[in-house]
Amino acid sequence: MIIIGAGSVGVPTALATAKGGLKTLVLDFLPSVAQADNKHAIGGIRATHSNIGKALLCKRSIEIFSEWEKKYGDDIWWHQGGYTFLAFSKEDEKVLKATVKLQKSFGLNIDFLTTERVKELIPGINEKGLLGGTYSPEDGNASPLLSLHSFFRHSKRLGAEYRFNEKVIGIDIKKNKIVGIKTNKAKYKTSAVINAAGAQAKEVGKLIGLDLPIKPESHEAGITEPVKKFFSPMVVDVRPYTDEKFGNSKNYYFYQNNEGKILFCLTPSPNIIGIDRRETSSFLPQIAKRMVQLLPRLKNIKIRRTWRGLYPMTKNGNPLVGKVGEVGGTLMLLVCVDKVLC
Ligand SMILES: Cc1cc2nc3c(=O)[nH]c(=O)nc-3n(C[C@H](O)[C@H](O)[C@H](O)COP(=O)(O)OP(=O)(O)OC[C@H]3O[C@@H](n4cnc5c(N)ncnc54)[C@H](O)[C@@H]3O)c2cc1C
Repeated sequence: MIIIGAGSVGVPTALATAKGGLKTLVLDFLPSVAQADNKHAIGGIRATHSNIGKALLCKRSIEIFSEWEKKYGDDIWWHQGGYTFLAFSKEDEKVLKATVKLQKSFGLNIDFLTTERVKELIPGINEKGLLGGTYSPEDGNASPLLSLHSFFRHSKRLGAEYRFNEKVIGIDIKKNKIVGIKTNKAKYKTSAVINAAGAQAKEVGKLIGLDLPIKPESHEAGITEPVKKFFSPMVVDVRPYTDEKFGNSKNYYFYQNNEGKILFCLTPSPNIIGIDRRETSSFLPQIAKRMVQLLPRLKNIKIRRTWRGLYPMTKNGNPLVGKVGEVGGTLMLLVCVDKVLC
């Protein structure tokens, strides 16, 4: 089994294939593990999606993350602090309540809380116009880097091999079957390949003539200095925002990690398609304004750092997973997108 990409998808997949007894090789053109978009994630992991496939997949992620330390002995900073989506309009309240009903029918533990309960969860929240919010206590967060390094070590222990600084530039096909892989350094024989190339998955698909429906979208995030822990859930403010000076955004979300630092991220509007990972000067004033308005006690907290990375997105935000029909022997598992660390 050859896995292209040593990131959020490739490394846990290598752990699974090595554990299942397959001779596994992971190739990445970067110099070490988790050097692309894995380290740009802020670490939120939730099962509360409105698509059943995604909800069940993420429920399994939560089981894996919550049992990880007990099973493998590594602290990956898993914290089951929940997620809360806030409602500030009748329309959002209606949509969120309908989603909760659907999610409950999938067996997910989620409720719609009153404003009073939301105020207990997020002390100091500006309650002006707040109509309540969803709360899913089993969702949580973990450190993307610690998690991936732990997956990496255990996959190697089980026999997976990694080669870095090596770019896959060709996939050899004979009689409609995969027979090998070509990199900038070597050739390998294989009958099974997994495309876990994240933002470059489309380019890897093109190596066998596939036009994969995937586009990288860039998002920015940041982290503050540590302060005493005062709230647990990932807070999602779904109100769209239009501002002449600072620009437009769809929503933003933030949580406090186990060191007391607040990690935050914003969804721009419209989406920014492309592979530019250079941070902008507009992100911080834009999100700071929104966060301080929602949680005024954040106004004096210092920001340590911001960064920009890519979400490899599909049209509906669901992962693309499956075997490629026409080319026998290929298994194309494609990028797990949007809030899934599987
Ligand atoms: C600001 C921000 C916040 C985010 N927050 C969250 C969050 O809270 N929760 C969440 O679940 N997700 C979050 N994400 C999304 C998450 O980071 C991505 O969905 C995830 O990292 C994608 O994983 P991947 O394995 O597909 O890609 P990556 O982790 O980027 O790995 C792909 C690897 O493939 C390699 N590669 C590509 N082409 C080749 C080739 N031809 N040959 C060899 N190697 C190749 C690359 O070098 C790279 O190392 C966030 C993203 C951003 C930008």
